[in-house]
Amino acid sequence: MAMMDSSPLSTPAFWSPRAAALAPYVPGEQPRIAGLVKLNTNENPYPPSPRAIEAIGQAAAGGLERYPDPESTLLREAVARRHGLAPQQVFAGNGSDEVLAHAFYAFFSQDEALLCPDVTYGFYRVYAQLHGIAVEPQPLDAALRIDVDALAARAARGCGGIVIANPNAPTGIGLPLARIERLLVACQRRVVLVDEAYVDFGGESVLPLVERHPNLLVVQTLSKSRSLAGLRVGFACGQAPLIEALTRVKNSFNSYPLDRLAVAGAVAALEDEAWFRQTRDAVVDTREGLALQLEDLGFEVLPSQANFVFARHPGRDAAALAAALRERAVLVRHFAQPRIAQYLRISVGTREQCMALVAALEEILGA
Ligand code: PMP
Repeated sequence: MAMMDSSPLSTPAFWSPRAAALAPYVPGEQPRIAGLVKLNTNENPYPPSPRAIEAIGQAAAGGLERYPDPESTLLREAVARRHGLAPQQVFAGNGSDEVLAHAFYAFFSQDEALLCPDVTYGFYRVYAQLHGIAVEPQPLDAALRIDVDALAARAARGCGGIVIANPNAPTGIGLPLARIERLLVACQRRVVLVDEAYVDFGGESVLPLVERHPNLLVVQTLSKSRSLAGLRVGFACGQAPLIEALTRVKNSFNSYPLDRLAVAGAVAALEDEAWFRQTRDAVVDTREGLALQLEDLGFEVLPSQANFVFARHPGRDAAALAAALRERAVLVRHFAQPRIAQYLRISVGTREQCMALVAALEEILGA
């Protein structure tokens, strides 16, 4: 309330009770500070494929006076080709956040609790609240891994569905395909949503399970491994009835979530396998080096299969460390949340950015 200005147009008096009750997700900051080492929102430090940029330019040069294809057919075909699926098994949206929001609406019931890890992507709880879905958080184990046995046992007693991120965020820890298949079997009457935002950096995708499991929905994004966070493109893969449900929700909300530039850029990025591999491998290599350097500085680093590491320093308060880094123009993410308040989530930057981070930490820690 303190932040609210007093002009009549912004008073909460006009808010619907629903809007007033929302607890929105707070994204990592995007400050405009020259020379900032920005390791706080898990963006890719490398630019997207030059072919994507060229395709966006061509798309901009002609046709913007027309609405785009409401079904993003070219993009869905490109995803289908890449993953050996049919276009009817692919749904595209304005970032995977939008895909997730539609999936929560389409699949998770309002009368049975949705299961998700207690430490995971914060937006899941926000979408659940938005759509009136109760959530029953399932504790990660002591090593901050998803406890598949406990989750499967809980799901077998009945639930409204399961959502997990694999690799999980913000821990970076991945689950093998066989473990996730266990959840699909335990929760056969409801959808199991697997958010693979970071899977390309070393996780094991469950896309091969789509043919076998009608309750599996896999969500991916071009924001991370394709360096297109600014373009807002995500997609979901699942059997055709699931995709049809997502399309119904989309068409009750926005006919054209993906613009012509986004579709053109995304298709070109998906087709540039060489660029994808080169930038992805550079991030993975840098991550391994960064983890070792952090360990040398006394950090405990969780094993990451993502484009970030999650680390704590036994002798230093994480919030204080994040603030000290910020003073040195290095941004990392700190979550003031139970269980993880002493961790920092550090996105893997270029080698130079990671060197700058390590130098700043050396200074702060007096190493
Ligand atoms: N899922 C997870 C686990 C994420 O961390 C993010 C990025 N914040 C997203 C989904 C959403 O990514 P986007 O909307 O950029 O596709």
